[in-house]
Amino acid sequence: MKNNTFGMPLAYVRLIKSFKTGDTVMSNKSANLAIVINNTLESKTPLDLHHYDISSALQTTLEFNELVVIFCNKIQSVIPHSGFEYTNELFELNIKNGIVTRHACTYTLKIEEQELGELKLMRGQKFSQQELKQLETLLCCLIYPLRNATLFRQAVQMAYTDPLTKVNNRAAFNDTINREFNLAKRTGRNLSLIFLDIDHFKQLNDNHGHECGDMALASVASWIKNALRGTDIVFRYGGEEFVIVLGDTDLGGATLIAERVRSEINSHALAYGLKVLDITASLGVSTIVEGDTVSTFIQRADQAMYSAKCNGRNRVAQS
Ligand code: GH3
Ligand code: MG
Ligand code: MG
Repeated sequence: MKNNTFGMPLAYVRLIKSFKTGDTVMSNKSANLAIVINNTLESKTPLDLHHYDISSALQTTLEFNELVVIFCNKIQSVIPHSGFEYTNELFELNIKNGIVTRHACTYTLKIEEQELGELKLMRGQKFSQQELKQLETLLCCLIYPLRNATLFRQAVQMAYTDPLTKVNNRAAFNDTINREFNLAKRTGRNLSLIFLDIDHFKQLNDNHGHECGDMALASVASWIKNALRGTDIVFRYGGEEFVIVLGDTDLGGATLIAERVRSEINSHALAYGLKVLDITASLGVSTIVEGDTVSTFIQRADQAMYSAKCNGRNRVAQS
């Protein structure tokens, strides 16, 4: 692939645009629109210099938030606007700035089959054809940085996800617990932990095979998620152990949630071939107390889980 003046591969980028003018919304799919127009180092029109300036600024970050803000600020002099909105369904992003007005133009950004989100510019006055044409040209500066941000975010997500259960892994837990612990200490807010260990899991592996064990782990992970609130985060701690971090939650609240998780697992059975297998788990709960460190906080949840084991399994214990 050839490169253009700005070090970006020359490519055809699909921009799908729609305009909102008053109450009318028009949609116009312009497929295979060539948006790179100048190809030589000698081209020095103001728009080229603008391209160069925007491209350089966009190379400074891989954060969607920052990319969109930089882009919209940089194009302000060429395409004045009073507000913008960027949405990206893949990463559940919605970034808004400025004021919502009567006129808007929206571009769905896509390269090859990679969705890159939707950018909407707004202002009180209608965008002219000339401005829209310029905007389409300038959007090429945003496409590749957005794709890099997408790849970066996907790589981080992969590094923090357990491939078998699709929940967060131990590395993600270590980061999260340190961050949440320090935040709770600083703000005086509650923070609780639930440690969960599947009962007699070795027996399940021994009797029905590793594949069945793997299936049980993935099922338990999804049952745990079913029982949690949107703000609770579940991690695979290792083997058949999971841990749940509950922000702004005291010991009583965390115990109620642990009981809900236990009951959700207990109420399901694993269908494996013609077999129906019962699965249970033991859970331990701890909440931050005066003098705790991250490790004493974790240890107390672990100890509580062991006392749930000792007291008969398939139950919840508090530290
Ligand atoms: P307890 O009720 O006391 O917790 O007994 P247990 O059998 O669940 O505990 P134990 O620590 O003796 O066994 C855990 C087993 O989990 C042993 C190990 O082979 C199995 N295991 C750990 N990770 C995986 C995995 O990724 N897949 C499968 N299939 N099994 C795993
Ligand atoms: Mg264990
Ligand atoms: Mg176990």
